Amino acid sequence: MDDTVRQHKYVLTEDQMPTTWYNIMADLPSPPPPPLHPGRMDPVGPDDLAPLFPMDLIMQEVSAERYIDIPGGVLDVYRQWRPSPLFRAHNLERALGTPARIYYKYEGVSPAGSHKPNTSVPQAYYNKKEGTKKLTTETGAGQWGTALSYACALFGLECEVWQVGASYDAKPYRRLMIETFGAKVHRSPSEVTASGRAFLADPKNYSGSLGIAISEAVEVAATDPDTRYALGSVLNHVLLHQTIIGQEALLQLAMAGDTPTLIVGCTGGGSNFAGLSFPFIREKLAGKMSPRILAAEPASCPSLTRGVYAYDFGDTAGMTPLMKMHTLGHDFIPDPIHAGGLRYHGMAPLISHLYETGMMDAESVPQTECFAAAVQFARTEGIVPAPEPTHAIALAIREALKAKETGEETVILTALCGHGHFDLAAYDQYLRGEMVDENFTEERLQAALATLPQVANA
Ligand SMILES: *Cc1c(COP(=O)(O)O)cnc(C)c1O
Repeated sequence: MDDTVRQHKYVLTEDQMPTTWYNIMADLPSPPPPPLHPGRMDPVGPDDLAPLFPMDLIMQEVSAERYIDIPGGVLDVYRQWRPSPLFRAHNLERALGTPARIYYKYEGVSPAGSHKPNTSVPQAYYNKKEGTKKLTTETGAGQWGTALSYACALFGLECEVWQVGASYDAKPYRRLMIETFGAKVHRSPSEVTASGRAFLADPKNYSGSLGIAISEAVEVAATDPDTRYALGSVLNHVLLHQTIIGQEALLQLAMAGDTPTLIVGCTGGGSNFAGLSFPFIREKLAGKMSPRILAAEPASCPSLTRGVYAYDFGDTAGMTPLMKMHTLGHDFIPDPIHAGGLRYHGMAPLISHLYETGMMDAESVPQTECFAAAVQFARTEGIVPAPEPTHAIALAIREALKAKETGEETVILTALCGHGHFDLAAYDQYLRGEMVDENFTEERLQAALATLPQVANA
């Protein structure tokens, strides 16, 4: 038995925690196309967004400053679980028999069990500062609802959450955690909004979708001056807040004396992937390293690999600004796979732009391969991953096995963006051999794309 002493964990002190967020807009060779007003079809300005977001966040959304200071009140809360650990997956490497070195940055140590509090805390902070009384939001699997509910509790804000019907029914413990932190949860589509009542008129909408839940949360925020809306992914300011992950990981890999050749993360709306990869893309653009940047998406909701790059609504009712993004169509209702956080029809405009300009790649993975990877990961590394990051783990394993064939030097960095303690029913289904891979058909995709909004010159 090989009983070499190995370093598994790279830990930063609180003093080493970054105090700025990194804004990739400052370094992009070309800017992404602007969001458009859904009625006027011209670029949205700060005033258009003011009913939904506080001005500090709107300014971050359009900022081109390279570094944005993290407020002291946010750093104080971050210190509750940050800096988060970086692990070297020695045991997984040994089980795979691979020469590849695999590192994972673990965000499951936060109060919500995922990366989401990195942005829910600053969003609640800036809203409180501007006098907001209540925040509304959507949640899929429940991770974002948990994170926002916790942040609102800390800053004394009310919180109201629309949870996608299928997840509300399947994951009662997430709802209970959201309620424990103090928020009110509605099953979406709900009877309490006009858009929810309209969706309920068609039985096909009963299981809900993130796009429908967003419509409900936006409707309530837009019609109450004391209420604003918070989004857990997709927007520039959300991706910005998550860059604390990659900035820490850069320092931790330097401690390990290693440089990544591959960075892989799962993409729902793109925020954990952006958070990990953007600081490394900055280094790559500066010629300091050259990792391949790879997004992992579900085969049942493949917005990058199968969707089109077009202006589309962020929600299903068509109330949000139009964003130029990779989309399956705002009417697309993905199969009810277990990775609820990856069941979004669109993709962050920033990620879509990087993908279009050849700065990153994407691959899709079927869910049975994800859970096989997750079980192997749990049995070697001791962490049960959330269903979402299992997509990235599956691709990391594919690449580590390739390295075994080719002997090419491979250093993989991945984001383990959450734990799966509330997702054990999905593991149960997998372990009993009852999990199936849903079929993503071209026919359904074309039907959803037929309702894309028509935008001249786009
Ligand atoms: C919300 C969530 C995701 C998907 O969102 P991104 O914005 O793509 O990161 C992935 N993993 C976990 C654990 C989540 O909570």
